[in-house]
Amino acid sequence: MRALCWHGKGDIRYDTVPDPRLEHSLDVIVEVTTCAICGSDLHLMDGYNPAMRRGDVLGHEFMGEVVEVGSGVRDLKAGDRVVVPFTITCGMCEQCRRGNFSLCENSNRNAHLASKVWGYSTAGLFGYSHVTGGYAGGQAEYVRVPFAETTVVKVPKSGLTDEQVLFLGDIFPTGWQAAVHCDIEPSDVVAVWGCGPVAQFCIKSCFMLGAHTVIAIDRIPERLAMARAAGAVTIDFEREPVLERLNELTGGRGPDKCIDAVGLEAHAGSSMDAVMDKAKAAMMLETDRPHVLREAIMACRPGGIVSVPGVYGGFGDKIPLGAMMNKGLTIRTGQTHVRRFAYDLLKRIEEGEIDPTFVITHTLPLERGPEAYRTFRDKEDGCIKVVLKP
Ligand code: NAD
Ligand code: ZN
Ligand code: ZN
Repeated sequence: MRALCWHGKGDIRYDTVPDPRLEHSLDVIVEVTTCAICGSDLHLMDGYNPAMRRGDVLGHEFMGEVVEVGSGVRDLKAGDRVVVPFTITCGMCEQCRRGNFSLCENSNRNAHLASKVWGYSTAGLFGYSHVTGGYAGGQAEYVRVPFAETTVVKVPKSGLTDEQVLFLGDIFPTGWQAAVHCDIEPSDVVAVWGCGPVAQFCIKSCFMLGAHTVIAIDRIPERLAMARAAGAVTIDFEREPVLERLNELTGGRGPDKCIDAVGLEAHAGSSMDAVMDKAKAAMMLETDRPHVLREAIMACRPGGIVSVPGVYGGFGDKIPLGAMMNKGLTIRTGQTHVRRFAYDLLKRIEEGEIDPTFVITHTLPLERGPEAYRTFRDKEDGCIKVVLKP
């Protein structure tokens, strides 16, 4: 079959690879009808994950049709239409039973590697390096889905297009979880760093959960415009001093809730902390660039919540712990517990409360994936979200 494969920093290719086969009785094989490129894929493309190997099949936001079913699978059959969350979940372990699906204790077959880096492992993730299980991803014609019954989200065969339900596998529940983590109250001012695809779903979710005001921060004009179209007030961080503007917009109190929807590759111009991050990274003393996390902690009003859907992978420096502690902030974060939210969000799509296609700017055949990765990374051609068709 054909698939998008990682070959090194900045080197993504459209390759021919062996077709996936059933390996376990609980597996199914899905024929992918639509997939997408996520901001998390860019961290892999940019070489931030040392556990990638040449030839790894990428992709963790995908959907399609079940074509083969393992002998132990009862609730799925060939022909079923499914969205596949990026988190592989056994459904039986302590964390799955608590609904903490991205922390499944059984699905990462390389849990020993993850435990070395993070203390304990996350769930196995599709197309996301060997530290999270080394599972082939879904930017491909076919994909093997382990623990299939408790991993996939079944969607109706008609009525909704692929594009309307595809993001249930990642960025929509990710934006939603980030907003849920904010415990939004009707008077809340929420500041969202980033206006990328995840941030766009954070903004929509904050309003759906009743936020009074959302302030969105980025520097890319079309992304800021999309945030404004959703009702947010925007700050261009290259033209305006972020902390001062947030202070002005909140009557000197700071935003009640702050969401870091940027993560480890924050752009920070020539600010003092950016210069330090660069020097530290060059000396291998730091892996992540936590500029946005620092800013969110500094901006947040005392007693507020900092919610972090942006991905961090290793170690960061100069986190303002004094501000965090003395202002009594709550920090909430994590890979998304996709299945905890997916069926509720599907219902909201069916009822017309939101149409997730608003974020799509580019639809291309899978074979043009390498070019699409570059366009998305470089934010060229007004690119906000890419959908690929195998
Ligand atoms: P993206 O790269 O398209 O968007 C990031 C945006 O942040 C860009 O628009 C960029 O201009 C902006 N940005 C950079 N520096 C900034 C700064 N200093 N201040 C404000 N904005 C800044 O990526 P995306 O798809 O929107 O993903 C965003 C983050 O969410 C990534 O870190 C991704 O890995 C993460 N993510 C997490 C989960 C999860 O489960 N928690 C799921 C999906 C994505
Ligand atoms: Zn993702
Ligand atoms: Zn589990």
